[in-house]
This record gives sequence, C-alpha cells and structure tokens, in this order.
Amino acid sequence: MTEKLFYEDPYLREAKARIVEIKPLGKGKVAVLLDRTVFYPEGGGQPSDRGVIEGEGFRLLVDKVKGKEEIWHEGRLKGRFPEEGEEVSLILDWEWRYENMRQHTGQHILSAVIKELYDANTTGFQIFEDHNKIEIDYPGEVSWDMVLEIERKANEVVWRDLPVEVQVYSKLPDELRKELRKELSEKVTPPIRIVSIPGVDVIPCGGTHVRSTGEVGIVKVTNFYRKSTKLWRIEFACGNRALKYLDGILEDYWLSLERMPNKNRPLVERVEELRNEISRLEMEKKDLRMELWDWKARALLGSSKKIGGLNVVVHRESWSLKDAQAFVVYLVDKNPNTVALFAGDNYVIFAKNKEFEGLNMKELLKEVLFAVGGGGGGSENLARGGGFRAAPEEVLERAFRALEKKVVKL
Ligand SMILES: [Zn+2]
Repeated sequence: MTEKLFYEDPYLREAKARIVEIKPLGKGKVAVLLDRTVFYPEGGGQPSDRGVIEGEGFRLLVDKVKGKEEIWHEGRLKGRFPEEGEEVSLILDWEWRYENMRQHTGQHILSAVIKELYDANTTGFQIFEDHNKIEIDYPGEVSWDMVLEIERKANEVVWRDLPVEVQVYSKLPDELRKELRKELSEKVTPPIRIVSIPGVDVIPCGGTHVRSTGEVGIVKVTNFYRKSTKLWRIEFACGNRALKYLDGILEDYWLSLERMPNKNRPLVERVEELRNEISRLEMEKKDLRMELWDWKARALLGSSKKIGGLNVVVHRESWSLKDAQAFVVYLVDKNPNTVALFAGDNYVIFAKNKEFEGLNMKELLKEVLFAVGGGGGGSENLARGGGFRAAPEEVLERAFRALEKKVVKL
C-alpha cells in the first residue's frame, strides 16, 4: 500500500520515498512502485501527474501514474537501473498538477450550480490538456442564455473565495448523506472523502483540489452541445488554461479580421458581406459561362465535320474533365443530329444528342480504347474514359474513323 501524500497535502511538490518494486516495461521504460508518493494516479476525470523520480545515478521521467492501493509510476528511465529499497526524490510537474487542481475544483462549482439552477446531475467529467468536459443529464433544451447564467453563478462562487474543505469518514453520517449533490455510489468504499464548499456543494471525491474557490481564477464555458437524447456536454476551462483558450480564440479572431477587405468589427458582419459577394460572383460566373458556352458551341459547330446529316464536333479540349463534360452535355442537348468527340490530356468524352438513334457512345468508346488502351464507361448517349496510351489527337482520329464506318452502315 502506497502512502498518499497528495491527500495529506495537495500542495506538496517534492518528497522522499523508497522503491518497493521496479519492473522493466521495454523500450527504455519502467514501472516503479513506491512506499509513498506525491504523484496523483489518474482517476475521477483527473489525469495522472507528471514529474521526475531521481536517485543516485538515474532519473525517471514520469508520464503515467496508476493504481489505487499500490501506486505505480511509469516513464522513461535515464541512467542505471534502480534497485528495490533505494531512496529516491520525487519532483512533481507542479504547473500541470496545479492547473488540474484548478480545473477539478472549477468542475465541482460548475456542477453544483447546474444542479441548483436546473436540477441536472453531472454524469461524466474529463480534464484534457487545454480544456475540460462534463456531461449533464438534462432532458430539455440547453441554450446559450442558460449556459451564460450558469457561468455567471459559477464565477460568483469563485470570486467569493470560499474554502474548499476535505473530510474523511469511515462511515458517512446520515445528516451529511442528505446534503450530497449526488447519491453515494455503492462502489465507493471507506474511507470516504467528502469535498465541500460551504453553502455550495458537498460531494464525495477522490481527486485533488485547491484550498479556496478564489484559486480557480475563472470558470469559462467554451462550448456546449447535445451528446445524446438525455445528455448534454459542456466544455469549459479554468485558471490559466481558460486564459490560454481565450487567447487562442482571440488570435483566431483578430487574424481573421485582419484578412478581411474591410477590417472593422464586428467580424460576423464582414463574413456576411463576403458571403454575399461570393453569391454575387457565383451568379456572374454562371452568366459568363453560359455566354462562353454559347460562343464556343457556335464556333465548334461551324467547323464540325458532316457525315450524312450528322454534325460531328471533334475537339482537342484544354478544360478539366468536369468542365468539359458539362459543356459537352450542353452542346449535344441543344443541337439535334450532333455527336461530340472530345479529348483532353488524359480523358475522352463521346456524346450524342438523345434523339439521334442507331449509335451507341459506350460501344464506340470500348472499340477505341480496345485499340489504344485505358478504361472507361458510360451510357448510349454519354461515355467517358481515360488512361489511354496514345496522343489525344490520335484517339480522336480513331474515334472519328470508327464513327464514320458506323454511320455509313445506318
Ligand atoms: Zn473533486
């Protein structure tokens, strides 16, 4: 059993301890069991501590701490392999731990306020590197107004700088049990740690907390959304992480505004202007494209080849496949008795007017690709292919000759 110094004094950053057991984990990593520790193991939504375990001739960079009774410290070992029974110095990554304590205490406050205002229970909690998440059990709709009210009340608790008290019980007194924000889970076995903020919250918890609510600094809700039919997720950040989060958002905001043609606030109006401008340009582009298609169609038909009563447009295209196909469809749809044979750098499109019967573009494509390689497919009226091993001009030439033979037979 490891003595949990982080419960006796959550502000203890360094201590001496003895190695009870050590196991190699491979790839230069080891796991160390200590007789006492300042390292909080992951649990209850709070991530495990980080830091260093140092001894004569070695250093262990702790990145994972696990266990309930026996606490194991995992990490990369530098130097010689330590022996069991050796004395070591423990040094916590204090910034990481302290911020976790602020987030964790902030969560107690936030959850207590949500319970008080909306009678919703917190069913999940997790601390991440830059923000935290809670899940609340609320069957209705959650709005920004509700969230802002929750945030305002939570910060009032922070700014009143109330004490955060921890009491340990082997049996929970009945009058205290009634005050709990949530019923005690049957999984919780004594000793039971009760964390209270007078007049705000009473809850069993196994995490580490700051001494007073003022140390939380600020509780900032950053996002909220429905997670399932009954559960809502609220994302938030406290302390320095809240500041960093907001700095990130502000940087994003100002850099975005800086890139606008009109740099005056508010950004949302500038975005709306850009959206309108894009719509206007899209309309203009559509008009211009129709005009371009019209001219291009006339020019191509003017120089088309005639086989009997059929107009055959043979064209070496520079447009992309997507643009070329849209135009080809327009060309043959508008003009009766017309076939279009188009080739780009790496594609061919064969199309005909639907009313003209007796020709099959898919079969024509198959025949041509049989000679020059590649693949493709389509329908009677429109076929496209690619991957051929011949110049596009040659593919067009072959297609025209094959078509000519077919039309003569009609
Ligand atoms: Zn807690």
